[in-house]
Amino acid sequence: MPKAATAGQGRIRGSERSNTSRSGGRANLSVMDPETTTSLCTPWTHARQQRAVAVLAGIDADACAPERLLAWNDVATHAADGRSVVYWMARAQRGSHNLALDCAVAAARALDLPLVVVFRRFAGPAGTELRHVEFMLRALPETFDDCIARGAHVLFVEQDGVPIVELLARDGALRPALVITDDDVMAGARRGREHVANSISAPLISVDADVVVPGACFPRQEYAARTLRPRLHRVLAQFDGELGHGLDGPTAPAHPVPAAALQLAGVHLAPAIPALDDLLAHARAAGTPDGASLLTSAPSGTRAARARLEAFVNEELHGYAARRNRPELDGTSHISPFVHFGQVAPHEVLATVRAAEAPAVDIDTFVEEFVVRRELAYNFVRWNPHAHELEGAPEWARRSLATHAADPREWLWNEDDLAAGTTHDPLWNAAQHQMVETGSMHGYLRMYWAKKLLEWRPDAAGAFELALRFNDRWSLDGRDPNGVTGVAWAIGGVHDRPWHEREIFGQVRFMSLASTGRKFDSKAYIARWNGANGAAVPGRGISLF
Ligand SMILES: Cc1cc2nc3c(=O)[nH]c(=O)nc-3n(C[C@H](O)[C@H](O)[C@H](O)COP(=O)(O)OP(=O)(O)OC[C@H]3O[C@@H](n4cnc5c(N)ncnc54)[C@H](O)[C@@H]3O)c2cc1C
Repeated sequence: MPKAATAGQGRIRGSERSNTSRSGGRANLSVMDPETTTSLCTPWTHARQQRAVAVLAGIDADACAPERLLAWNDVATHAADGRSVVYWMARAQRGSHNLALDCAVAAARALDLPLVVVFRRFAGPAGTELRHVEFMLRALPETFDDCIARGAHVLFVEQDGVPIVELLARDGALRPALVITDDDVMAGARRGREHVANSISAPLISVDADVVVPGACFPRQEYAARTLRPRLHRVLAQFDGELGHGLDGPTAPAHPVPAAALQLAGVHLAPAIPALDDLLAHARAAGTPDGASLLTSAPSGTRAARARLEAFVNEELHGYAARRNRPELDGTSHISPFVHFGQVAPHEVLATVRAAEAPAVDIDTFVEEFVVRRELAYNFVRWNPHAHELEGAPEWARRSLATHAADPREWLWNEDDLAAGTTHDPLWNAAQHQMVETGSMHGYLRMYWAKKLLEWRPDAAGAFELALRFNDRWSLDGRDPNGVTGVAWAIGGVHDRPWHEREIFGQVRFMSLASTGRKFDSKAYIARWNGANGAAVPGRGISLF
């Protein structure tokens, strides 16, 4: 089980007074790096962070490390005539150990206003399948119950219901004094926050609740894991105990939700939200594709995440370092869909694994993947404006890929054959089948899978786009900074180094079927996902030789 949360070790700044009352006895962490006593943020982030800190300090409502806070508009104080505090729940879909919810509870208590959690189901980017919608929706009743236990009212807004800005407008139904949301580095989410922030007159403040170390602590794009690792470990102890409150944390004041909000189109007050089947039918009718949705029984939600985590630490963590690169053994944690949908706090995952009785090498390997690699991916997407395309790759990789753009391809596969997993390569087909059928592809094969798209598609930029689109369409954990960065690593050489030059790949690292297949029992993996005899399914690829 998780270690008890410890107070952060940063200094408490004089101007932000010792606050141990409303936020449940939490120490207020410093925005200063204790070693250097300089700000950890770039000037622009620092100014926005300071504005958010000032808004919350103005109402005596500190609840998390200031480094997690960001103001999205210039509104310097809460709206004095506000009728509610709103937590716009987006990324962190959980009701416990949620630092953004804690912050909203603290603000509602300070202002003595009702706390309204608003969850609006957006149609999502093109390519989202019903499997993602279902995994997300099935967890919401539990999440909403947990929020209600913290004294909040929860409004679920259907995807074609009232726009979020109308709910949050000054003369709108909720008239918030202050809006808190959770941070998300993905470009679409950032655009959404900017739009809302510019359309409302209350402050919009985000809380960076889904990384262990706040992204603002790494103020520029890191070159590789080796540059982030020492920086991250230097400040990890400052943030890893900041677990957030569970269900027994402070509660919001017991005031009714502003009644006008309940009259609006598509708004439901939890727990009276439509049944899952109705919501899915609604999503289907709105055009969400229902391809190969074999996942109706996939457990989701905070308790399911904790059960998965517990099974992992009790039965699978021992030997993880060796087993995680053996796709035929399936020896990884399978925690990523829960983490992607924010159903479990990264702090809780980290604390649970660190507290487990397992060899240090296994725990350290998990920490490297879950904290260093994951937060490196977030850093890349946060700071690279072209992270989602080949243009975001390092100059050496783009140059060498361009040099080899006209190299002849032995195989060219069209989208239909790739989607169906009917190429000449049985290992690739097996990986594709695993993803389509289960919503997950083993991490080791994800690298191979994406690199083969570079080899089999006419151009590198198109291969990048297709790899990300396929990954996001079928992987339950898709549409995530990890996916963007994984594709950028495989096809664009991001966080990697130049390798020996070769055809098509230039200096981008190559993976061959022969060498990849030798590193684990690929026959067993292929037989499992390609059918009993493990043979490649004949396809219609064009062989140029
Ligand atoms: C082409 C490609 C696409 C990918 N797409 C996604 C994606 O859409 N969503 C996603 O969450 N991950 C993605 N990854 C990263 C990684 O493969 C998955 O996080 C991992 O396979 C998830 O399974 P698990 O939870 O069992 O991982 P475990 O091996 O048990 O690892 C534990 C956790 O560590 C983190 N992690 C592990 N490997 C990486 C990595 N290479 N980069 C960043 N974080 C990592 C994840 O949060 C993971 O859940 C992708 C990698 C590549 C190369």
